[in-house]
Amino acid sequence: MFYQPELETMPREELEKLQLDRLKKLVKRVYERIPFYKESFDKAGVKPEDIQSLEDLQKFPFTTKQDLRDAYPFKMFAVGRDEVARIHCSSGTTGTATVVGYTKNDLDVWGDCFARFLYAADCDENAAIQVAYGYGLFTGGLGAHQGGENAGCTVLPMSTGNTKRQARLMHDFEVDCLCCTPSYALNIADVAIEMGYNPAEEFKVHAGILGAEPCSEAMRKDIETKLGIQVFDIYGLSEVMGPGVACECEKQNGLHVCEDHFLVEVVDPRTLQPVPDGEWGEVVFTTLSKECSPLIRYRTRDISRIITGECECGRTFRRMDRIAGRTDDMMIIRGVNVFPSQIEEEIVSFPEIAAQYQIILTTKGTLDHVELLVETVPDFPFDEVRRLEQLKKDLQKALKDNLQVAVDVKIVEPKTIERSEGKAVRIVDLREGLH
Ligand SMILES: [Zn+2]
Repeated sequence: MFYQPELETMPREELEKLQLDRLKKLVKRVYERIPFYKESFDKAGVKPEDIQSLEDLQKFPFTTKQDLRDAYPFKMFAVGRDEVARIHCSSGTTGTATVVGYTKNDLDVWGDCFARFLYAADCDENAAIQVAYGYGLFTGGLGAHQGGENAGCTVLPMSTGNTKRQARLMHDFEVDCLCCTPSYALNIADVAIEMGYNPAEEFKVHAGILGAEPCSEAMRKDIETKLGIQVFDIYGLSEVMGPGVACECEKQNGLHVCEDHFLVEVVDPRTLQPVPDGEWGEVVFTTLSKECSPLIRYRTRDISRIITGECECGRTFRRMDRIAGRTDDMMIIRGVNVFPSQIEEEIVSFPEIAAQYQIILTTKGTLDHVELLVETVPDFPFDEVRRLEQLKKDLQKALKDNLQVAVDVKIVEPKTIERSEGKAVRIVDLREGLH
């Protein structure tokens, strides 16, 4: 089901024309209205008129989180106070908060982006949605709320907490869709079960639009089974808009980016050069239609890739993969970018292996050498040498196939890997020189 079919299924050629048209106006507007961009474009030797094609954007400088912090509080706003309808900001736990403003139009676009995915989850004006994201300066609660209102749903503004009540009202009010973080969805499911409900059977809820934190495939399955729902992974970040920048459709095969409003690029975080579609890198967004807090090439530090090919759902917006990690966690091994989460994903597919692991990087000759220490689960017969050898071979093959990097696997007995304060050190980098 589509919310805005004429946009969501727009032929690529038309979509790119729309993007270019918006991009030209955007670049001109930020150059004229935001001193930071005037300065940064001048320094890079680029002018708004240099945008003649979408690729021309690659000549323009990036915007970073630090730039937003330096602009605290309102130096990145492109409109005056009279046009600012709402302000959200990050918690600022790691420094100055980043402030993002929205005009009335910005809020409407945000609501529409979120509403598209409520429709993808089969929720229209006949559906009730329970918003259990936190309300406040954090974008989750009000983002989902506005999405529900734009879609015409009945909105239940629960915010977080009071979990028993969440479970009871989800049942009594016959809620169709739950919007919150994956961990909170699981918490609500567990509490409902403790209360004596069988949510998968007794609750009407059939969808969960869950985001704002990573969710492993195992966790997703757990939530889906316990609540009897389909989980839609939603992506967004307050700097760019909030939840709804991208989201899965009913096919659950990548997150469609709302490309009429956001231009997505994936770049190599070291060279900052664009990588071909299908390759992993840092996701970069340009906000094509934001009025108050527009951004040119904002580096998200989130790692993903563009999924090539068309989606069976009929949407023409390109898809990005679920977030594989943050650039801060990235290892460069023999020139290949590798993330701990990718290794973890392979490990969890082997039931004989526990979730504990350690990656040890050393230099052999001139090459990087990767050793992966994993523990077996407690009931694995560790003295059956042949089984152990086979397991090692299978894991090495899976890693090689999926990471394009040879990994030397060492399987050790349970509780061998050193724990520090109960949490294992995941990466030990003993390589010579700078990496
Ligand atoms: Zn799709």
